[in-house]
Amino acid sequence: DGVIWLDGQMLPWREAKVHVLTHTLHYGMGAFEGVRAYHTDQGAAIFRLADHTRRLCRSAHILNMKLPYDATTINDACRAVVRENGLEAGYMRPMCFYGAEGMGLRADNLQVHLMIAAWPWGTYLGDDSMEQGIKVRTSSYTRHHVNITLCKAKANGNYMNSMLALQEALASGCDEALLLDNEGYVAEGSGENVFLVRDGKIYTPELTSALEGITRDTILRLAADLDIPVIEKRITRDEVYIADEAFFTGTAAEVTPIRELDGRVIGSGKRGPVTERLQTLYFDLVHGRSDK
Ligand code: PLP
Repeated sequence: DGVIWLDGQMLPWREAKVHVLTHTLHYGMGAFEGVRAYHTDQGAAIFRLADHTRRLCRSAHILNMKLPYDATTINDACRAVVRENGLEAGYMRPMCFYGAEGMGLRADNLQVHLMIAAWPWGTYLGDDSMEQGIKVRTSSYTRHHVNITLCKAKANGNYMNSMLALQEALASGCDEALLLDNEGYVAEGSGENVFLVRDGKIYTPELTSALEGITRDTILRLAADLDIPVIEKRITRDEVYIADEAFFTGTAAEVTPIRELDGRVIGSGKRGPVTERLQTLYFDLVHGRSDK
């Protein structure tokens, strides 16, 4: 139940449908966002909405899709979706896609549509994941390499690798996958950026093969507030094995400790103190308990 915003209209959930010849369904070109709303003293608050909308507009721009709505309209629509669904907290999915106006690969005859849905969503990587940490497997699939610039876009077609990587990880008893880039350096999780802690410093891959995550950026700011040095560099898989702590960040995964990679226990095998500190600060921030 509930409502979904589609092209400027609030539709009942069941009526927000597309045709089977929807272009994006066939060729995969489209862009989306994952946004969370959190319960705060002032009601539901959408965390860094303007930044998510900006990234959606940029993703569309990279894909040369002409979004028919400006950022203000999209922001207002997101707020309306949360409000009209009566959500105290939840996950939102804005997505732009090409319509069913034509087949074939040319796009100039196609309309760009925008939909925004929202629903309640708890912890992404399992109920215990936040405290216990998760088991991760390095994927045999590499981070999508069509175009490095596309790392800046949350583009629909980019997620085949992520999905196959996650399936592979789940099939081998792990909770999440770690994808390497084409040169074998650590890129990111299937839907998360990755961080390491070693000797009191934080390391994270440069943005050459990972999405410019908004949670990543929040963690960089929180680490700066704590005066913890952060180094953005190429990271190898064995550096993860010998890290003191490791964690994933993402709108869905929030700040999730990694306790094991490829059967190697990381650090103490438990959520480390730096991870815990950043996790606490992150949750304070998203719940409006701090204004950093
Ligand atoms: N990397 C990938 C591939 C993602 O899909 C996501 C999306 O959530 C992230 C990283 C994390 O980005 P953000 O923190 O903006 O949600």
